[in-house]
Amino acid sequence: MNIIVLGPQGSGKGTQAELLAKKYNLEHIDMGKFLRVVAKENTPLGKKINEIINVRKELVDDKILKRVLHVKLQDLPREKGIVFDGVPRREDQREYFEEALREFGRETDAVIFVNIPKEESIKRISKRWTCKKCGAPLIMGIDIKNGKEKCPRCGGEIHQRADDSPEGVKKRLAIFKKETKPVIDYYRGKGLLIEIDGRPEIDVVSKNIIKELSKCSAIKG
Ligand code: AMP
Repeated sequence: MNIIVLGPQGSGKGTQAELLAKKYNLEHIDMGKFLRVVAKENTPLGKKINEIINVRKELVDDKILKRVLHVKLQDLPREKGIVFDGVPRREDQREYFEEALREFGRETDAVIFVNIPKEESIKRISKRWTCKKCGAPLIMGIDIKNGKEKCPRCGGEIHQRADDSPEGVKKRLAIFKKETKPVIDYYRGKGLLIEIDGRPEIDVVSKNIIKELSKCSAIKG
């Protein structure tokens, strides 16, 4: 089973992908998280990725993505299902993504589009903090009360992502609309798209996704 989860910034796509991975015992490939780890490394590649993600707030170029995808797919046994979080994000990427899946004997079974309005994205991101150590997403006012607290999951230091500044979110939302929406439309045309309202509580969104997924033949097994 191979599932893609896409959604605008703050839609909760990462949280939903994590829940799906647990529920169906899938490998969770979170491209953004992986790239943020590499961006911290003091290497030419790390510096390049940091510049793209945190300074320019753009999408990473396809050459890097191709390399990462290949290594990940190569390392996984074919029987292990995957939930792809935030990939593919633009049309050319979608083309080689599909090609890479085929090469490794896989195909896309379903694409979940967790959708929220732009204003909700901006509101949510302004409250989003993350643990530097375990990467847990933390909501100000719910999971934590101030920026000096430690991560409630692992005790690690917490911070706000550099690309989560108001101007960073606006830029990334514009990229989502221009680059990722055509990918979503493509999968809609293929009959693989499951569009879910991302505004309700996390567990309600999760239940709605599972309900819709259970109608897919590949998921029924
Ligand atoms: P996310 O955690 O999904 O918000 O991703 C954070 C950042 O990582 C994005 O703004 C991009 O700069 C980069 N990134 C993540 N996934 C991709 C992708 N599929 N293609 C290009 N860049 C990506």
